[in-house]
Amino acid sequence: MILLDRVTKLYGRTNTALDRVSIHVEPREFVIIVGASGAGKSTLLKLLTKEEKPTSGKIVVGGLDYDKLRDKDIPLVRRKIGVVFQDFKLLPGKNVFENVSFALEIVGYGNREIAHTVPKVLDIVGLKGKEKRMPGELSGGERQRVAIARAVVRQPKILIADEPTGNLDPKYAWEIIKILEKINHYGTTVILTTHNQEIVNKLKRRVITISDGRVVSDRANARYTNEDSK
Ligand code: ADP
Repeated sequence: MILLDRVTKLYGRTNTALDRVSIHVEPREFVIIVGASGAGKSTLLKLLTKEEKPTSGKIVVGGLDYDKLRDKDIPLVRRKIGVVFQDFKLLPGKNVFENVSFALEIVGYGNREIAHTVPKVLDIVGLKGKEKRMPGELSGGERQRVAIARAVVRQPKILIADEPTGNLDPKYAWEIIKILEKINHYGTTVILTTHNQEIVNKLKRRVITISDGRVVSDRANARYTNEDSK
C-alpha cells in the first residue's frame, strides 16, 4: 500500500513542486501518472524512493512511515521498490546476465541463488538466450527489458516505471508495457509515468493527472487527451 497524505514539496522557499497531494494506491494496483513537463511527476517518484523528503505531509509505503525512517533504513525502502528509467541505466561493461545478477550480488546473494533466480527473470522479460549479449548489442526495447529484469529480480512489492518507453519506437513501446502488465499480474504494484496517450488509452487503468503540483483528476479506466498534457 502507498499512502500520500497532503504531501507538499518545496524546492527552495518558493518553488512548489507538489502541493498537498493525497494519493492512495492499493497493493497490486496498476496506476498511470500523467502530466505536462514540470507538473511534479518526478518529484512524486523521488519522494517514494526517498531520494527527496517532503516539506510537509505524510508518506507511508508498504507499512513504512517515512517520517520515522532513519538513513540506515533506506535499504528497506529500496527493497520494496524497483525502479526503471527512460534511459535504462545499464552497466555498459557487463552482459545481460551480469547486469541483472549484479543487483543480487551487491546485497549478498550466493552463486546458487543467482544461478536459480536470474534465468527465471530473464525468461519473464523475454530475454532467454540473450544472456551473454552486451548492452551495446541490444535494441532499445531489449535494453529496457534488462532494466526491468534488474528492477524486479529481488521481487519488490512496487515497480516504478518512469517514462520507460520514452526512448523507444512505438512498436517496442507496447511490448515493454505488456511486460509491466505481466509483472503486475504476478502481484507487483506498478506506477507508470508516460506521455504516450495511445498507451494510456489502450491500458484502461487508473490515471492520476498532475498539473502544477496538484492532483487534478484521479479516475479509473480513464482516457487521456491533449487537454491533459497542456
Ligand atoms: P515533471 O517530472 O512532471 O516534469 P518535476 O517533478 O521534475 O516535474 O518538477 C516539478 C517542479 O519542480 C518544476 O517546477 C521543476 O522546475 C521543479 N524542480 C524539480 N526538481 C528540482 C530541483 N532539484 N531543484 C529545484 N527545483 C526543482
